[in-house]
Amino acid sequence: MEYKNTWELYDEEQLKAVDTFAQEYMEFLDHGKTERECIDQIVNLIEEKGYRELDAVIAAGDKLSAGDKVYSVWMNKSIVMFQIGKDKMADGINILGAHIDSPRLDIKQNPLYEDGGFAYLDTHYYGGVKKYQWVTIPLAIHGVVVKKDGTTVEINVGEKEDDPVFFVSDLLIHLAQEQLEKKANKVIEGEALDIIVGNKPLLIKKTDDKEEKEEKPAEKDAVKKGILDILQKSYDFEEEDFISAELEVVPAGKAREAGFDRSMILSYGQDDRVCAFTSLKAMLETGQTNRTACCILVDKEEIGSVGATGMQSRFFENAVAEVMNLTGEYSELNVRRCLARSCMLSSDVSSAFDPAYASSFDKKNVAYLGSGMVFNKFTGARGKSGSNDANAEYLGHIRAIFEKAGVNFQTAELGRVDLGGSGTIAYILALYGMNVIDCGVAVLNMHAPWEATSKIDVYETKRGYVAFLENADL
Ligand code: MN
Ligand code: MN
Repeated sequence: MEYKNTWELYDEEQLKAVDTFAQEYMEFLDHGKTERECIDQIVNLIEEKGYRELDAVIAAGDKLSAGDKVYSVWMNKSIVMFQIGKDKMADGINILGAHIDSPRLDIKQNPLYEDGGFAYLDTHYYGGVKKYQWVTIPLAIHGVVVKKDGTTVEINVGEKEDDPVFFVSDLLIHLAQEQLEKKANKVIEGEALDIIVGNKPLLIKKTDDKEEKEEKPAEKDAVKKGILDILQKSYDFEEEDFISAELEVVPAGKAREAGFDRSMILSYGQDDRVCAFTSLKAMLETGQTNRTACCILVDKEEIGSVGATGMQSRFFENAVAEVMNLTGEYSELNVRRCLARSCMLSSDVSSAFDPAYASSFDKKNVAYLGSGMVFNKFTGARGKSGSNDANAEYLGHIRAIFEKAGVNFQTAELGRVDLGGSGTIAYILALYGMNVIDCGVAVLNMHAPWEATSKIDVYETKRGYVAFLENADL
């Protein structure tokens, strides 16, 4: 069985649409380097399209019926959207789910120190990273600092042309004999991933009259003091405020087209914002359906879907209950029936075949860049452990939908048996007894600071999501 290359299936008009869609997607990536930034963009976009905030609908005492659109944001980091269908929700809804957190370096709560004339911010990496990939590349800081009075300072430094950037140093090759003998997971240790944020001492005006105009360095930790002075003047926060900050260090710079043929996209954070963006766009494109259309974009997938904003949180179930209350269907039994009878696409990236590491994959059961949307019947590791293994009946149903809609897809596993593995949010939704399958977009060098996707896969996957929302009913 061989899969088709999607580029060969498209006509001129479709190819134009692929490029337009890729531009929109790259802009989404550029303005969404953290969960919070993604949520801001998504809320702006969906409110323009008529979505109302769930709490506002409740407060207004309004009801929901077919065609109504409603959303709920949880702690500024996760969102769920509903477009109410004609059928009762208790008969099941169609759900697209993806995550909007990505691997990065998080700044610690007591991070600022000085050593050897440099000011540093200490970090703790988030998610699975090859630490050696994060040294000597330009880095940006995005996030929030919440002060004691409840005000929030938004930080975004390193993206504009004239912004400064930050970096992690590496040992020069001339002295790296010992370092290069180390295993790759020890070459750069987690505690060595502190970012350099300054090198200039704070200068203090002398106080005695004669030398009034001269300046001298503030003695101890003068470079650190210089940075604190800038943070105070430019961002209005002080050292102690790092305690209640969420600052994420990410690769600086914009998403770029890749290849002479501009067929690919190279960018930070495509796992899993590529599935989040395509799911969102599919939601907005889908017209009135029989079954309610739903899209969940969550935080914390990269660290096990934990926490109040991760998929294991009850915020989604609670939102379903609230929405059913507004459609006049609420009962505990109806909520359970709705969740059990739903269909879900758990959308996450899948590894693309990499010819440079061919032996890491099973060539017959791996995704190829450009060959369309990817279905992973199962994920997991060591004999499918930790996986949701989708039901054959559900796969049969999905195949029929995609064939009818003319959506090009491939089936894949992450890599060679027993080489490694991964998980997604699929198993959590499957706890309700609903039909769930893993699917998404193929990515080359997944979890690296710069990940690659195919423009045509991004577009084809969005088409697949629309076909699913309009037709899934099992
Ligand atoms: Mn992912
Ligand atoms: Mn991931």
